[in-house]
Amino acid sequence: MMQAAALYYLFANFYLTEERCCMSKKKYVYFFGGNETEGNRTQKELLGGKGANLAEMTRLGLPVPPGFTISTEACSDFYEDGQTGYWPEGLEEQVKEKLNLLEKTTGKKFGEGEEPLLVSVRSGAAVSMPGMMDTVLNLGLNDNSIESLIKKTENPRFVWDAYRRFIQMFGDVVMEIPHHTFEEALDGVKSRKGVNLDTELSTDDLREVVSEFKKIYDREIGEAFPDSPWDQLRLSIDAVFGSWNNARAIRYRQINDITGLVGTAVNVQTMVFGNMGEDSGTGVCFTRNPANGDNKFYGEYLMNAQGEDVVAGIRTPKPISTLREVNESAYDELMRIRTILEEHYLDMQDIEFTIQEGKLYVLQTRTGKRTVFAELNIAVDMANEGLIDRKTAIMRIPTASFNQLFAPILDKASKKNATLLTTGLSASPGGACGRAVFTADEAEEWTSRGEDVILCRKETSPEDIGGMSVSKGIITSRGGMTSHAAVVARGMGLPCVAGASDLRVDSSSKRITCGETMINEGDLIALDGFTGEVFAGKVDVRSSELLSISSGEGDPSESRLYQNYSILMKWTDEFRRLGVRTNAETVRDTKTAVDFGAEGIGLCRTEHMFFAEERIISFRKLILVAEEVKDFKHLIASAEGDTTSLEKKLAGPLEDYNEALDELLPLQRGDFAAIFRELEGLPCTVRLLDPPLHEFLPKDEEGQLEMSREMGLPVEKIRNTVEKLHEFNPMLGHRGCRLGLIYPEVSDMQVRAIMEAAIEVKQDGYEVLPEIMIPLVGHPEELRIARERAQLVIDGILEESGLEKDYIKYKIGTMIEIPRAALDAARIAEYADFFSFGTNDLTQMACGFSRDDAGAFLEDYVKMGIYEVDPFTSIDVDGVGRFVEIGVEEGRKAKPDLKVGVCGEHGGDPKSIRFFNSVGLDYVSCSPFRVPVAKLAAAQAEIEAAM
Ligand code: ADP
Ligand code: MG
Ligand code: MG
Repeated sequence: MMQAAALYYLFANFYLTEERCCMSKKKYVYFFGGNETEGNRTQKELLGGKGANLAEMTRLGLPVPPGFTISTEACSDFYEDGQTGYWPEGLEEQVKEKLNLLEKTTGKKFGEGEEPLLVSVRSGAAVSMPGMMDTVLNLGLNDNSIESLIKKTENPRFVWDAYRRFIQMFGDVVMEIPHHTFEEALDGVKSRKGVNLDTELSTDDLREVVSEFKKIYDREIGEAFPDSPWDQLRLSIDAVFGSWNNARAIRYRQINDITGLVGTAVNVQTMVFGNMGEDSGTGVCFTRNPANGDNKFYGEYLMNAQGEDVVAGIRTPKPISTLREVNESAYDELMRIRTILEEHYLDMQDIEFTIQEGKLYVLQTRTGKRTVFAELNIAVDMANEGLIDRKTAIMRIPTASFNQLFAPILDKASKKNATLLTTGLSASPGGACGRAVFTADEAEEWTSRGEDVILCRKETSPEDIGGMSVSKGIITSRGGMTSHAAVVARGMGLPCVAGASDLRVDSSSKRITCGETMINEGDLIALDGFTGEVFAGKVDVRSSELLSISSGEGDPSESRLYQNYSILMKWTDEFRRLGVRTNAETVRDTKTAVDFGAEGIGLCRTEHMFFAEERIISFRKLILVAEEVKDFKHLIASAEGDTTSLEKKLAGPLEDYNEALDELLPLQRGDFAAIFRELEGLPCTVRLLDPPLHEFLPKDEEGQLEMSREMGLPVEKIRNTVEKLHEFNPMLGHRGCRLGLIYPEVSDMQVRAIMEAAIEVKQDGYEVLPEIMIPLVGHPEELRIARERAQLVIDGILEESGLEKDYIKYKIGTMIEIPRAALDAARIAEYADFFSFGTNDLTQMACGFSRDDAGAFLEDYVKMGIYEVDPFTSIDVDGVGRFVEIGVEEGRKAKPDLKVGVCGEHGGDPKSIRFFNSVGLDYVSCSPFRVPVAKLAAAQAEIEAAM
């Protein structure tokens, strides 16, 4: 029957379709060994990573036991419709042919003869994939071949050891007999003989183990253990194919988003034996240290051991350096191979080797996994050693994990012993531990007593800034990746876990409840911003090497990491086109950012300056009378006839108003001057007042009472103003340039403060490049009016001071953050010296997602695949990105040399940076701690674009 079917296939293949005809001639099996090697390193897709590299190493003349690789296409055809589970046409023939060649090459016969050829069967896809079939070693042994092998090796113990390993591996891996049945039988023999280690079993003991194992096989499978080497091989190859679609492998591919692979390859390779005695062994090694990147050989080995013994943890492996004493020539050979492989692959390699009776064999090489710390050191070292060029070094550094370099970290061991409460969003990297506090004031109070605190809130608001900045970390139970807490924490370089919704944070009773656990004020709590984990109790924290050195605490010459980091940053400057500025409004942040290499400030938010203690009073005073003043002015303007009585009524409020402005002017001027000085000639974009005014007034009764006491005003007045300023949708309400158009005196004051500060600092001998930015412009008219007014103020100041019109090289420009503005950018550009895309608001308005509320569903949106990533984290290229593109294009149509940047959160996101680079922006601006990664990403984007 089978034969008839096979004949039919042959017939059909040959005569019916051309495609079939060619498939039967498909080459499925690739030999490696001697001069017959067919594959090479470029064929990972076809031969799997393991197979391609075995072929490549053979070509390099390294001591690789010969063998052959069955291609991934064979696996894919094994699953071909209609004949699933059958070997594709021609495969058996080709396997037998290569097996023949292998016999010729080795001078041995497969599973028979004086010195039987034994092989391993190893799976291996293009990317390494747990879940695929484990390796079977010593295949080809049976009751006959062991006898000849014993004769040949005169080492019966080794042969019986190899045999028992084979039966176990074949039974477990190929036939899926539960692992523990063999382990239990082995333990049984060991305890009967009173020994602990496998190596202590005698030949007779091992013989006993073999007979036990065969019985198990019989019982579990209902057949005797297969004697025929060919059957053993065929079943093993079947099992490798089968493992491609087992549940574990499918799940692994899903989770890791591995698509486009057709199957796994199968490697059949001549066995070499590490278990032939004390002059044999097996090990794994890395050409450099995978944890810290040190250019030191790193690895472990075991003598008299085979296969996975090293990683299985049965015996404790020895550090590779001690191999020199055991077998110097094998050690030297390994060192030689290390150099050859690194120079060939130009990257750190992870190598598997075996020593058989003193002779070394290589069994695998691949690019070694490593931490970002190691990656940085290795890339810079290799470029300095001349192995790779600078571009390659830059491209190798992963932007996604780059900021891990700076973050303080929770101690791993200490974390293991701690109580995990819950996992929220990993909003800002780093680890922190401290006493739980529930308000910003308490944070400052506890800190002033010398305590480390973690600020725990439902969510944070601008009022909390002070308390946040003194905390070691922030935990919120609400809010997403761009919630206030997350953005500010990233900006401050503070670890933050946001949206930990399992936590019930109650700031009135000063307590967190999480299931059964309660955390009260002052209790220790810890968070891991890398993973989103929150712990109850003490967890040790370590600070990052890079930060402590750049803040002057350590000696740069003693930190290789710091030196290499500085070198890498210099290299990124060579290759990037995009400028990198920072978002900062304090001297401290400015200094941090400039130390990190920021090339100016791209966004200085003036309103943040109003929250500090003494200013908020003046500013609140201003808000309370602003409405009155405005209303009176309107009345006077539209009144017919005598306006004296109105003007009288206006006098009082107007005086208060001007007084408040007069109080604020020197404060703002001082702030700007300090920042300009710190910048030492770098440009500074200052955004005029942006948020709705109600944000500056207390919402709750208690706060209003306190304010009325402080200011000596009736509480009703405050309450009325709060009510009057209330808006249903403040993000689309009276804010941005709309404030300056309705209360122009406030903008006047700000413009004056900027220019006076600039003059002051310039007269001290520093260059100052102020850029006045008008926010939230949607219509060209808004900018025209705002600009004209600012221009008048500036001209006035320069004239007053008797200075030339161009004494200060200032610019006036706008933020593009309303979709309308992007579309109408050509007309807007007429009044703008520069554009800065405010992509946070632009995303909010273009997608219709409230920045403050979208957290509740955006995560699900991403899970459902509607958006690939949170559009507030990484720019939505197809939608929001289009507005940016159009904005740039239209703007430059009107003004070819228009300077264009971006100052939203996206300015520090590597993926977004690639996009900004591609649409021709001049610079990105991001929080100080993201400046280094932004520079790296900008360099990568440009290198990639040129490839
Ligand atoms: P994995 O993909 O899990 O690394 P491998 O196929 O590399 O599995 O094999 C597991 C172990 O078996 C490794 O230690 C390897 O060195 C060893 N091994 C594989 N083939 C042979 C062989 N032909 N001779 C000796 N040891 C082998
Ligand atoms: Mg391996
Ligand atoms: Mg905005």
